[in-house]
Amino acid sequence: MTSETDGALNPFSLSPEEIRQKVREAGIVGLGGAAFPTAVKLSPPKDKHIDTLIINGCECEPLLTADYRQMLEYPEAIIKGAELARVAVGARRTLIGIEDNKGDAASILSEHSDHFPAAIRLLKTKYPQGAEKNLIYALLRREVPRGGLPFDVGVVVQNVGTVKAIWEAVSAGKPLYERAVTVAGNGIREPRNIWARIGTPSQTAVDFCGGLIGDVNTIIVGGPMMGIAQWSLDVPIVKGTSGILAWRTSAPAAEHPCIRCARCIEHCPMGLSPTQLAKFIQFEKWEQAEKWGALDCVECGCCQYICPSKIPLVHWLRLGKNKISRAKRKKSDRP
Ligand code: SF4
Ligand code: SF4
Repeated sequence: MTSETDGALNPFSLSPEEIRQKVREAGIVGLGGAAFPTAVKLSPPKDKHIDTLIINGCECEPLLTADYRQMLEYPEAIIKGAELARVAVGARRTLIGIEDNKGDAASILSEHSDHFPAAIRLLKTKYPQGAEKNLIYALLRREVPRGGLPFDVGVVVQNVGTVKAIWEAVSAGKPLYERAVTVAGNGIREPRNIWARIGTPSQTAVDFCGGLIGDVNTIIVGGPMMGIAQWSLDVPIVKGTSGILAWRTSAPAAEHPCIRCARCIEHCPMGLSPTQLAKFIQFEKWEQAEKWGALDCVECGCCQYICPSKIPLVHWLRLGKNKISRAKRKKSDRP
């Protein structure tokens, strides 16, 4: 078991496999919200040449500011962790993408990046700039192919909080037992970012922020666009908990038939046709849904947010993605 004394004296002398091993032992996962095992992401397939490591400093959703705070408070750990990640994937350069409303974070990080092959790039502030495929396109103009991964275009993406955790794991042997969480929304008395131990009940985090105010009727874990609504605050903070939001909102508007306005198509960052995909999925036309790119949906919620008919498009897309992926897994498991 990893203890806090297992750190390397000189982390930069370690081989890629030694870095991955320490990351694996520390139980690090992607802290942007996806919680994908980081050691796996740092192990590109042998036939994929990685030339660029991208560090994602674009907050994954509106309202969340935990990544921003970490860039301001832990710039050295982020830059050093990014360098270890770059060595692990064998990239020749590191690009750090930050939205242009966080110029102070960009300046602080650049003060610490002198001795490393890391360049900071300011990007337009827009949602979902922090989505992996969008970020790769914004920085490199490379499109991840349909059904593909960043590996396919020579890129690995890591979140700023994740590379900070990589540095702490490799240099000090620190396991991932805590994470930064944004506690916010108009139902929280003192919104703020906190460090929370994994397993802390959400209720404890909310109490630490002054408790709830007014008639809160919506609790969301994650961000306002992609987060998951909860029944209660009994749920624990897990490694993927980027935010806890509490809201006083009016009842959701009733759903109406699609009026073919095409706004969902116009706003989809993946170039999909959400209205058509939702129809395929409602009628269980899985093959057509896959052909029309259902698996490329990043569940950003833009289509549903903009839909004047209030159609729960993301619900249908999640359902479709789940069904198609399960069917594919079943097929590949067959002898
Ligand atoms: S949630 Fe909607 S807008 Fe976002 S990628 Fe999926 S289909 Fe496109
Ligand atoms: S935005 Fe809503 S109403 Fe307009 S085309 Fe898309 S699903 Fe239909």
